[in-house]
Amino acid sequence: MQGLRGGIPGHEILRGIDLEVLSGEVHAVMGPNGSGKSTLAHVLMGRPGYEASAGSVTLDGEELLGLPTWRRAQAGLFLAWQYPVEVPGVDPAEALAEALVAGGREAGDVPARLSAEASRIGFEERLLTRPLNVDLSGGEKKRNETVQLSVLQPRFAVLDEIDSGLDIDALRAVARRVEEATVDSDLGVLAITHYPRLLKELRPDVVHVLVDGRIVATGGPALAEELERSGYGAYGAPGASEGPWEVGALPEGGPLGP
Ligand code: ADP
Ligand code: MG
Repeated sequence: MQGLRGGIPGHEILRGIDLEVLSGEVHAVMGPNGSGKSTLAHVLMGRPGYEASAGSVTLDGEELLGLPTWRRAQAGLFLAWQYPVEVPGVDPAEALAEALVAGGREAGDVPARLSAEASRIGFEERLLTRPLNVDLSGGEKKRNETVQLSVLQPRFAVLDEIDSGLDIDALRAVARRVEEATVDSDLGVLAITHYPRLLKELRPDVVHVLVDGRIVATGGPALAEELERSGYGAYGAPGASEGPWEVGALPEGGPLGP
């Protein structure tokens, strides 16, 4: 993507983002709360209510901006939501079969592939028969997103805080599955996260720091380690000088500080 600007109508949240992710690569986008990480995911996927006001986003040479969301999906873009939506009445196997066929591919035996993928990441098979995401826990929804990703085999996946709600074993399994996809099907990945914890499991080739709608630093995996030690304060993030905390950890003296 080049010079990507956008957000919601009348309010620019992304203020010029340049990023190139090659097939098979994992790039991480880290940043404090409210820096625009999810907005980036929504603008890339073309979520209604969000818009790009300038710039270009291409996938294997095809311009995605201006296309409806379903066309972007057909072009090979996949988004794992930060907050996956419950869709009553929609059977996951049927939805995936429809998506594969609509994208010009063979659906094959989707239920069998779903079962195989579910067992690879420890997602309970009985949950596959529920309507899409209905009554699943936060962590189960994240695993369900990963199962869908594995069956759909897109060209490029944006993972918006896939780590949130996952315990360490689930996180490891999900990260391993995504990494395998980068090797097996040359999947490109933009892994959005708030915590360096994910990046210990899903090892990124490149780490970007997003603050206030701009990429303010780019580096190797060592950048994630540095952020773990010193937080986002050095990058001018307002009020973020003490973070980020590891999941479960609290600042010294408890939530209110020393
Ligand atoms: P992050 O995912 O990095 O925590 P977001 O992209 O969700 O941040 O949000 C970035 C900023 O844009 C925040 O200030 C947020 O309140 C605002 N924002 C995002 N989406 C909307 C929306 N649909 N309506 C109003 N404000 C929004
Ligand atoms: Mg977010």
